[in-house]
Amino acid sequence: MANEKDGTAQASEPVIQVEGLRKSFGAHLVLKDINLSVMQGEVVTIIGASGSGKSTLLRCINLLETPDSGHVWFHGQDLAGEHVNVNSLREKIGMVFQGFNLFNNKNVMDNCTLAPVTLKKCSKEEAEERARKNIAAVGLSDFINADVNTLSGGQKQRVAIARALCMEPEIMLFDEPTSALDPEIVGEVLNVMRDLAAGGMTMVVVTHEMEFAKNVSDKVVFMDQGVIAEEGKPAQIFSNPKQARTREFLARYLDDDPSEVGTK
Ligand code: ADP
Ligand code: MG
Repeated sequence: MANEKDGTAQASEPVIQVEGLRKSFGAHLVLKDINLSVMQGEVVTIIGASGSGKSTLLRCINLLETPDSGHVWFHGQDLAGEHVNVNSLREKIGMVFQGFNLFNNKNVMDNCTLAPVTLKKCSKEEAEERARKNIAAVGLSDFINADVNTLSGGQKQRVAIARALCMEPEIMLFDEPTSALDPEIVGEVLNVMRDLAAGGMTMVVVTHEMEFAKNVSDKVVFMDQGVIAEEGKPAQIFSNPKQARTREFLARYLDDDPSEVGTK
């Protein structure tokens, strides 16, 4: 697939390619033949009802789940290959969850330096320097020594983003990063994600924030009952969805009072 942003050779390489992915839990087939490419620098949002398989797809990309069949390629390397070093691959794929998953008895700095020092064998000085840069990027320099327990949900999620960035990932996966937040602080997290996207980070974002999907993504993927029912550019998906089920899903968000968009 050609990159439509700038068409350079580097940009046309998929960072992630999912091919024929199937995943079941017991008798329940949760992902049915998923095919998806994420190009360098691309922001892909995944929308769809609860239970449609969005988290399972992200977890297969991040090797938190093992697919039944199919492939996930990371820069052309099959993640299911026999000689894959799972830990070193995970370091290149940053993940931000709905529930923050921070080290709760530690301060902001320690949350950001722990993995680089223990997993990447970074020196403490280098890890701290990188942490300061990323903590500043998410607007939390004033809280660098604060215990994360004392922070608001929006601040915690920004720490989670900074922490992921400290591993210098090549791609960031977000699984409903604002769904656990009070509506008035959703924006501060989305702004950080918007900045990341503008800086060229390759991102896959599962979200119910339709304005974000519309304005920030290069590609929107609509999942329904374990399949990609439709994918396309945001303008097409939001103004001219081809599939009835995409229209029905979007109608629940877009026909309502716009102030309700994303509050689900
Ligand atoms: P979404 O993120 O779109 O809400 P999920 O990927 O979390 O959907 O879940 C898709 C389906 O898979 C749901 O029916 C869910 O109950 C089921 N599921 C997800 N994880 C597991 C698991 N670890 N064990 C059994 N069923 C699961
Ligand atoms: Mg989910």
